[in-house]
Amino acid sequence: ISFVPKTHPRYKSLLNREKVVEALDKGILAKAGLTAHGRGEAFDYLIGEKTTDIALKSIKASAAMLVLAENPVISINGNTIALAKDEIVQLAEELNGKIEVNLFYRTKEREENIKKAFEEDLTIKEKLNNNKIKLLGLNDANRQIPNLDSLRGKVSEKGIYSADVVLVPLEDGDRTEALVNMGKKVISIDLNPLSRTARKSTITIVDEITRCIPLLTKYVKEYKKMDKKALKNIVDNYDNKENLKEMLNYISNRLKTMDLG
Ligand code: ATP
Ligand code: MG
Repeated sequence: ISFVPKTHPRYKSLLNREKVVEALDKGILAKAGLTAHGRGEAFDYLIGEKTTDIALKSIKASAAMLVLAENPVISINGNTIALAKDEIVQLAEELNGKIEVNLFYRTKEREENIKKAFEEDLTIKEKLNNNKIKLLGLNDANRQIPNLDSLRGKVSEKGIYSADVVLVPLEDGDRTEALVNMGKKVISIDLNPLSRTARKSTITIVDEITRCIPLLTKYVKEYKKMDKKALKNIVDNYDNKENLKEMLNYISNRLKTMDLG
């Protein structure tokens, strides 16, 4: 139950903060997840707490890449589950259903709590039972991403290990780089356009996770009806470094012309 008044001008942000705290209490989120969230909030202020046209370009390129993928996987961690569990499930359903739990601080207890969070929700449980979505990376993280220490690099054979495209919301730079070095296409969601994750990814969506996943799902639905050549065009015309530069320009112009009245 939320204590944030709906009339609060920054309702959504405060609600997200509550969700993150709740996930900490439920043993889903590691303490360090709180600081990661705070950093995200700060960058969201800088972009104006809305999806920019620049981010929309990344979202469209990501949707095209996901539809073209042979074996896409959505990687999730504590922050992602705290904020966008339902939204992730909806996106996975439009793809091959593969969701992989990939934790920076992996403990058996946290894994159990995450499993419980998915199965507690009866509509999600039904989708798991019907194989509409698959929750990987819990009992089957037997493969190792090269050049990462053993705990952080554990992945599932059917999931991230064999994926051609991996969506990594709120990911760490080290792991992003390791996935790219494995030859995978990496789509990240990260409000910080300066992070190593943002700079190493194939596509970076500089937007808040709860705002951009529903948009991503919307474009995936739309693009599934389009021919592959047109989708390939969208992907080929996207340049991530260019997009990040546009975002930095956008932020600096916004700050320079800001009305503080
Ligand atoms: P890197 O390792 O990539 O250089 P980092 O160490 O600064 O980044 P991490 O803590 O590894 O950051 O990753 C968390 C990232 O997720 C942060 O860059 C933060 O901006 C971003 N983030 C946090 N909350 C959200 C959110 N709600 N939506 C989108 N991005 C978020
Ligand atoms: Mg990091």
